[in-house]
Amino acid sequence: MTTPTTHAEWQAAAARLRFRDQLWIDGKPVPAADGRRFPSVNPANGRILAEVARGAAADIDRAVAAARRAFDNGRWSRRAPADRKEVLLRLAALIRQNVVELALLDSLDMGKLVTDAVTIDAPGSAHFFQWHAEAIDKLYDEIAPTGPGDLAMIRRVPLGVIGAVVPWNFPLDMATWKLAPALAAGNSVVLKPAEQSPLSALRLAELAAEAGLPDGVLNVVPGFGEEAGMALGLHPDVDALAFTGSTAVGKLFQRYAGDSNMKQVWLETGGKSPNLIFPDADLDAAADKAAIGIFFNQGEVCSANSRMLVHESIADEMAARMVARAAAYQPGDPLDPASRMGPLVTRGHADTVMGFIDAGRQEAQLLCGGERLTLGGSDAYVQPTVFLGADPTARIVREEIFGPVLSIQTFRTEEEAIALANDTPYGLAASLWTRDLNRALRLSDRLVAGTVSVNTVDALSAMTPFGGLKQSGFGRDLSLHSFDKYTALKTVWVKYG
Ligand code: NAD
Repeated sequence: MTTPTTHAEWQAAAARLRFRDQLWIDGKPVPAADGRRFPSVNPANGRILAEVARGAAADIDRAVAAARRAFDNGRWSRRAPADRKEVLLRLAALIRQNVVELALLDSLDMGKLVTDAVTIDAPGSAHFFQWHAEAIDKLYDEIAPTGPGDLAMIRRVPLGVIGAVVPWNFPLDMATWKLAPALAAGNSVVLKPAEQSPLSALRLAELAAEAGLPDGVLNVVPGFGEEAGMALGLHPDVDALAFTGSTAVGKLFQRYAGDSNMKQVWLETGGKSPNLIFPDADLDAAADKAAIGIFFNQGEVCSANSRMLVHESIADEMAARMVARAAAYQPGDPLDPASRMGPLVTRGHADTVMGFIDAGRQEAQLLCGGERLTLGGSDAYVQPTVFLGADPTARIVREEIFGPVLSIQTFRTEEEAIALANDTPYGLAASLWTRDLNRALRLSDRLVAGTVSVNTVDALSAMTPFGGLKQSGFGRDLSLHSFDKYTALKTVWVKYG
């Protein structure tokens, strides 16, 4: 399908879509064991896209059993890494052939701009599969320096059955960040997409089968967190659980592991990332990137730069710049290439974000935005919003809002900037803007964050690990380090004469 360019063309392409609405278990679509379904709603207009099979404990049992059988039969787990690479490279190619469809599925399901989905999310998924596929036959095991008479091999082996539970903000890419290294390493996976956005994962499973992934190696069970998610977290035959989502639910997965089989749990959770701006920075570039950092994807980004910390000497200038930048991010239909933000994922989430904005009106000066909009019959749209001067104890400063809401605070000294930046339970990302290299390195030493971006925001690539410190979690997606989550070290010690 050629990539549409106009609003009308995107709408026409959306009208032609066929939604996969069954669970995907053991290489085929199947209904839920109890036959239940749940609606997948388009937040841009409130209409139901599809009634999707609602997976629950019995379905998780079936999926884990299929994954275990597939792992044990060795058709994937014991295949040469170079052969697994070929299959995953075919999957990457199929994703590229289907970027328009995959982009539309995510855009319709959760409201992101289709132009972002087709240029960033869907090609990103292909890239991440390709990157991990190409890496897997270049990783060597180790031999310990024991000396003659002993050959001690330290081997990396797949773990077995991986449970993956992911959020709705980047449905295809969050699934990919788990699946690409887990599958490349030879595991079987049961993926539970978020209930708000199950459609792209179901299509991805079909494409993986077309690429030649054996039956049972990838299973997708859409459903609700308290049903399918909890069942996967508690399952006694899951070896590791990779989770991306909120900090509160991440803590539940640690509990589920303790209450069941002590499975490894890897958490990538929430954030409240600071963006420090010093007077010697390129302020226009800082403002441009800061706007992307908080308004891209409606601010529904774990590493969103939701706290701008500005030196007091440039506070007014930066505030004015941010108000001007915010004006450009007005929401609209996500299928319209002219829109700069879509709706929030659900009406309920818009309610939550508006609750923060209402609290913020008491806690700080509202510089712009702050209103909810009704467009196309949906009231899930929220204006880009900027607050100035909130106290460090304010809710809009402390809590993850997960919407297009920026809080600007000021500092006088570097010490104060660091103290404000680190005064949070989270530690996912931090950005800082300065032309002084000494200051950049000095501060990057002290910012408590998984990624510190200097003179940019949210620096990210397949080559570098992405994850948090403190209550932003401890797992790392992407890079060669992501294989650490999906492999175990096994020592094989041979005595010889
Ligand atoms: P969420 O925690 O509500 O849901 C995430 C997943 O967990 C979903 O699949 C959901 O069904 C499941 N779930 C929910 N309740 C559950 C329960 N009781 N038991 C088992 N599973 C359950 O998060 P969300 O609203 O989908 O996503 C937003 C959150 O994700 C934000 O906090 C954001 O920061 C975080 N996030 C983090 C990263 C990262 O890499 N650190 C990336 C993207 C999003």
